[in-house]
Amino acid sequence: MQGVAILGSTGSIGTTALRVLSRHSDRFRVAALTAFSNERLLREQAATFHSPFAELAHNGGSGCLVAAATRDDVDIVLNAVVGAAGLDATLAALESGKRVALANKETLVMAGHLVRQAMARGGGEIVPVDSEHSAILQCIAGRRHEDVRRVVLTASGGPFRDWPREKLDHATSEEALKHPTWRMGKKITIDSATLANKALEVIEAHYLFDLSFDQIEVVVHPQSVVHSFVEFVDGSVLAQMGAPSMELPVLYALTHPRRVSDSSSKPFDPVAHSPLTFEPVRHDAFPTLQLGIDAGRAGGAAPAVFNAANEQAVAVFLDGKMTFGDIPLAISSALKALRSAPAGERAALQKADSDARAHVRKEFGC
Ligand code: NAD
Ligand code: MG
Repeated sequence: MQGVAILGSTGSIGTTALRVLSRHSDRFRVAALTAFSNERLLREQAATFHSPFAELAHNGGSGCLVAAATRDDVDIVLNAVVGAAGLDATLAALESGKRVALANKETLVMAGHLVRQAMARGGGEIVPVDSEHSAILQCIAGRRHEDVRRVVLTASGGPFRDWPREKLDHATSEEALKHPTWRMGKKITIDSATLANKALEVIEAHYLFDLSFDQIEVVVHPQSVVHSFVEFVDGSVLAQMGAPSMELPVLYALTHPRRVSDSSSKPFDPVAHSPLTFEPVRHDAFPTLQLGIDAGRAGGAAPAVFNAANEQAVAVFLDGKMTFGDIPLAISSALKALRSAPAGERAALQKADSDARAHVRKEFGC
């Protein structure tokens, strides 16, 4: 029996995870739950799953996340918090030698090198929950690192995949929140519409699989059935496929490298899913992707600045105080202004993060 802590249990990934765990109560027990809002749902979940720990994170403090992540009865920490708020818990869990099933990609993007150090110090490991990275892991598990030539991350393209560039600038939050293939939290749904999500995922892949940015590509695949490709040095290409659902990536992050039978998985029907199509990314219409990749290549504090500026811009956009077209402008402006921000330790990254947020608020008058 393994103890699982779910950080962000009331969210889209958190509730998906509890659905998965309810089918696998012979292997996993819920040892801790945390949420930021919706206390009623948190209490209901705690009662249903007999969780010995259930706390609400108040005012952005990470104390209760760290407390949940480092409990002795927790073996696996599913970090399903949204945004940079999840960083301390990831670091603490890795330093305590736990497995972190990581949905909270912002953590790795903001502080990839600190996450690596925490893993080395504490002996913890990260297993990705993101469907693309789960796909890559499933394709490369047990193979030699030097056999991988490159990976190709798939992107649904979001709700504006075929919108003309000019129309995009004034897309509303209502339009941006209508994702064609995935039902997710608001922040990642907006990130999917700008392709900031794919930028975060490129940086995530760089850290998770120790790949250079030249080895990571992105292709648009509107059906979200092929979750990513891995190309090997002999030209062979493996892909992992399935209906768009986060249940399998969540389950696999708990059981990796093993697989367990899951009563809810239906037989895959290639005909029902056909045709599967692929398109190049329209970088002119979605400049945020390249901004993020460039920040990843620049390294230092740039990925943290990219992430924080994006988080702030998305919040302001959802508040109706910024246009959709302003989001990449805000990120680009923060990256330029904070070009020489030092990376270093946790405090320096935290400063880069808050400076980027302040820059976006100031530039866009809110
Ligand atoms: P969500 O908004 O639905 O849920 C977020 C959860 O975190 C909620 O329980 C919320 O109460 C909690 N939370 C929010 N702010 C917090 C804070 N400051 N401190 C502590 N807890 C806080 O988001 P989601 O869609 O479930 O996404 C969660 C993470 O998983 C994100 O990093 C996202 O990028 C990633 N992810 C999500 C999906 C998906 O299908 N939803 C897929 C891949 C990756
Ligand atoms: Mg993803």
